[in-house]
Amino acid sequence: MAAAVTAPHTTNARSSKTESYVDNKRRDDIRQANILAARAVADAVRTSLGPKGMDKMISSATGEVIITNDGATILNKMEVLQPAAKMLVDLSRSQDAAAGDGTTTVVVLAGSLLRRSLTLLSAGIHPTVISDSLYKLSVRAVDVLHSMAIPLELSDRDSLVKSAATSLNSKVVSQYSSLLAPLAVDAVLSVVDPEHPDLVDLRDIKIVKKLGGTVDDTELIRGLVFDKKVSHTAGGPTRVENAKIAVIQFQISPPKTDIEQSIIVSDYTQMDRILREERNYILGMVKKIKASGCNVLLIQKSILRDAVTDLSLHYLAKAKILVVKDVERDEIEFITKTLNCLPIANIEHFREEKLGHADLVEEVLIGDGSKIIKITGIKDVGRTTTVLVRGSNQLMIDEAERSLHDALCVVRCLVNKRYLIAGGGAPEIDMSWQLGVWAKELKGMESFCVKEFAEALEVIPYTLAENAGLNPISIVTELRNRHAEGETNAGINVRKGQITNILEENVVQPLLVSTSAVTLAIECVRMILKIDDIVTVR
Ligand code: ADP
Ligand code: MG
Repeated sequence: MAAAVTAPHTTNARSSKTESYVDNKRRDDIRQANILAARAVADAVRTSLGPKGMDKMISSATGEVIITNDGATILNKMEVLQPAAKMLVDLSRSQDAAAGDGTTTVVVLAGSLLRRSLTLLSAGIHPTVISDSLYKLSVRAVDVLHSMAIPLELSDRDSLVKSAATSLNSKVVSQYSSLLAPLAVDAVLSVVDPEHPDLVDLRDIKIVKKLGGTVDDTELIRGLVFDKKVSHTAGGPTRVENAKIAVIQFQISPPKTDIEQSIIVSDYTQMDRILREERNYILGMVKKIKASGCNVLLIQKSILRDAVTDLSLHYLAKAKILVVKDVERDEIEFITKTLNCLPIANIEHFREEKLGHADLVEEVLIGDGSKIIKITGIKDVGRTTTVLVRGSNQLMIDEAERSLHDALCVVRCLVNKRYLIAGGGAPEIDMSWQLGVWAKELKGMESFCVKEFAEALEVIPYTLAENAGLNPISIVTELRNRHAEGETNAGINVRKGQITNILEENVVQPLLVSTSAVTLAIECVRMILKIDDIVTVR
């Protein structure tokens, strides 16, 4: 790697340093140990960077297996103990929260910056000086990125699709990017609220995973999908047109006694009475529901008692009401928003104006004989979207979901901040080049530090080339020369194995992903540099 070229002159540096500040051996050791541990984490994900990056198979203690290419997922699953190394895991997580993509990039960048910090430390430069130069560098780097950015209009669907495709290209499911990229764009654009045009809440996009078929069968559904069957006993409907849908949070079953109590029935007339009461109680409820015109019931899951009993299902079937039970509590908000209805917490509040309306609710048989429930043609449908992800095995579905999440985040970034930037290592090498020029204008230690860190940014194109099986040294050198000649958008074309104008290859990514990767990585490195002791407390 380019970062490895300058070998630290450890012996010389140590002797000159002991003259400047004495008795700091332990501090240096701690700092060094932290940096080495953090770098080990960065090295673990380095091979996953880029479109030709490798995937990781993660096997957990419980026997769960995951195949992924997503930096944040790899690090989240890794059991990291060393506190400084944990900071890199958190770094990836914050990038995931801030931008959603670039989670490998940010960690690889931090690793490279840490390696250079170690060189600078062993040259006897004080950590504070290094940290301050890093701060200046980050401000300048963001400026460079801004100067490269290309403004974007949301109506420019093509560019949005291109950037979603760039993010998907480096995933296990890359062969499906022509389907998933437009899907991600449509999903995000459909939930943009005209009143807050730059805010997107990804919770409004629900991803339902269903085993079977291939990723090709993944579809966008303007409506609701439940991965379950309709609950019905003989004769209950499984398809309702012109549906009036109620979302209820109470159960249609007889009340139970408290856990510690029991009722002893000693007389058969009493027994009869109980059964009659139960029947009347349930019948009363079903009548009230029917009276409001409701013909589809979505019942929230309860841990206290059964949502429905055989008896209530029987009455509901007679009333021609379709029943979906065990709807999760945390889905209620999404459902009511989509259906534009109100959840009903008590039978006494069951009124017609609380219902939602849809053209069709039906149980659909898919592929391998399993069933899902679809609600389509919703009247006054809320700003939500459902994506039904299909796949031939669970590993594939899970990875498709994670990749789709990245693509959704990329489009969200572009809605938030409407700038694009070229990919393929172009922004990093341009930053490196321009910061290198700037370093020459600076003086003293600062200049030295900035020069080192500017070179550290080359790790991204270097790794992209390396992972694609190209010769990293010649590629990075040529790339640097092309940028020095002013070709700002020259990048690594991994398909052709050479350097071309990367914009023509349609490899674009959101500016936000790059700026947040650089600033977060630098912030993390500065934090690690400032730690000079680890104190364990009980
Ligand atoms: P991350 O988890 O950081 O997003 P990725 O594995 O998605 O990591 O790799 C992202 C990097 O790959 C970015 O620097 C991006 O510019 C680059 N990249 C993506 N697609 C291409 C491509 N087709 N050609 C060249 N570089 C690409
Ligand atoms: Mg990516």
